[in-house]
Amino acid sequence: MFKGILVTKGDAGYRAALQEIDDAVLPDGEVKVSVEWSTLNYKDGLAITGKSPVVRRFPMVPGIDFSGAVVESTHAAWKPGDQVILNGWGVGETHCGGLAEVARVKGDWLVALPKELTARQSMEIGTAGYTAMLCVMALEKHGVKPMDGEVLVTGASGGVGSVAIALLSKLGYTVVASTGRTSEAPYLKGLGASAVIDRSELAGPGKPLAKERWAAVVDCVGSHTLANACAATRYGGAVAACGLAGGMDFPASVAPFILRGITLYGIDSVMAPIGLRQQAWTRLASDLDLSKLVAMTHAIGLSEVVQVATDLLAGKVRGRVVVDVHRA
Ligand code: NDP
Repeated sequence: MFKGILVTKGDAGYRAALQEIDDAVLPDGEVKVSVEWSTLNYKDGLAITGKSPVVRRFPMVPGIDFSGAVVESTHAAWKPGDQVILNGWGVGETHCGGLAEVARVKGDWLVALPKELTARQSMEIGTAGYTAMLCVMALEKHGVKPMDGEVLVTGASGGVGSVAIALLSKLGYTVVASTGRTSEAPYLKGLGASAVIDRSELAGPGKPLAKERWAAVVDCVGSHTLANACAATRYGGAVAACGLAGGMDFPASVAPFILRGITLYGIDSVMAPIGLRQQAWTRLASDLDLSKLVAMTHAIGLSEVVQVATDLLAGKVRGRVVVDVHRA
């Protein structure tokens, strides 16, 4: 038996609660991990509250990411004691996840914890930070350079947004943060944003083309925000779309694509190939100012997870939440 959050669905409805979980609940996998830290991402909020059908099998341990130490392995790449990270692959959705003391997963899903990071820091970064890195790597691959101009980050106070700002500013980009919480301007500037705009500027229906402003964009919000970001992206610029915090729709026109040659990159962290993950984690270990993680993170125990998941979906959580799975 081990402690964890279990999501069940039955006559009593959809329920997530901290409880003792039987080992038999764990799915097949070559590697058993003693989880040290997990996190709460937006998707975990959806899974825990049942607000969207993220969980596809019941009972389910939610938690799309974790870090910890291997305790048993029949996979050639891993042996007991190895420190590992897991992000995505349907963990916490179709395969029991990280919000528990123990997880069992496929060995091919794991990434070695970079030696520059502690297990806790890796989850302070978490899937949100790894996704932010994938966004930044897509913009770099496109050829966006700091001298090209301002980079917009939407959903700035959230997990992906916060890490994206810290990464981009450390890499020398001029970052403009779009947020619904302008009271968080000091926090966002502390992370490296040079200016903060109110998200209402981007939230409504806009024109097919707006004045060219952004050299590039990291968008966590979707819907009109993404459409407006594309409309104001400069000739030849790039937009990395990773989120839907404002909606899944994309009410845009082709104008920015065919008249300004802009490129829209879709960013997926869940099924990203292992090589790209390793590259992203290596870059996070070297390119993120780890001292910024302190300002953007707070730690909770398992007993607080259900409440904080609700707060997260309500947009009340700033930055990143890490979960100490050994703290009640
Ligand atoms: P958070 O909840 O931490 O942050 C989301 C932020 O979006 C909020 O803090 C808020 O920022 C803003 N926001 C919330 N609601 C709205 C709204 N209705 N309209 C406009 N802005 C809103 O989530 P994460 O940072 O973890 O994730 C961000 C998005 O990225 C989510 O949609 C998530 O599902 C997605 N995601 C996708 C991944 C992928 O692989 N593609 C991986 C990880 C996340 P503010 O208060 O500053 O406005």
